[in-house]
Amino acid sequence: MDDVFADLFEANARYAAASHEVAPSGVARRGLGIVTCIDSRIDPLAVFGLVPGDAKILRNAGARVTPDVLRTLALAAAALGVTRIAVVQHTDCKMASAPRDELVAAVADATGRQPVGFEPLAIDDHASTLTHDVAAVLDSPLIPDGTVVAGLVYDLHSGRLHTVVEPQPR
Ligand SMILES: [Zn+2]
Repeated sequence: MDDVFADLFEANARYAAASHEVAPSGVARRGLGIVTCIDSRIDPLAVFGLVPGDAKILRNAGARVTPDVLRTLALAAAALGVTRIAVVQHTDCKMASAPRDELVAAVADATGRQPVGFEPLAIDDHASTLTHDVAAVLDSPLIPDGTVVAGLVYDLHSGRLHTVVEPQPR
C-alpha cells in the first residue's frame, strides 16, 4: 500500500521546491464563503477568479447545506472574515441525475451492507433545493446578521454562473 499516494508525494516535492506565496492569515481576504460540489470537474479558484487566501471553500456531494456546513460557515463568519456566502450547485451533477434510492443502493452495493440512517440528500431540482439551502443558512442562528447569501448554478460546459436565488442578507 506504500505507493498508493506516491503520485501525490512526487508532485508535492516539486511544489514544495518552488516558491509559493502564503497569505499572512487564514482570514478570507475577499470575505467570501463558497459551498460547492465535490465534482472533480469544478475548479473553484478558476471559476470564481480566486487565489489561495481569498475564500473559504466547502465541498460536499451536491453542495448541500448540512449541519457540518453550518458549523463551518458559523466559524468562517465569526473568526475568518466571511461576510458573503454563495451556495453553488452545478449542471450534470450526479446528485441531481440519480434518484435518492439509486444513491442509497449504490452505497449498499459498494459496501455489501444496508446503509442504515444514510441520507444522500439528492437534488430534485436546482431551484427548490437552492431555495431550501439558502434559507437554511439565512435562518441559522449561528450566522451573523448582515451576512449575504445567494444560490447559484455553475454550468460545467459554458463555464458560466447563473443566479437562481438572489443575494439576500440575514
Ligand atoms: Zn455535483
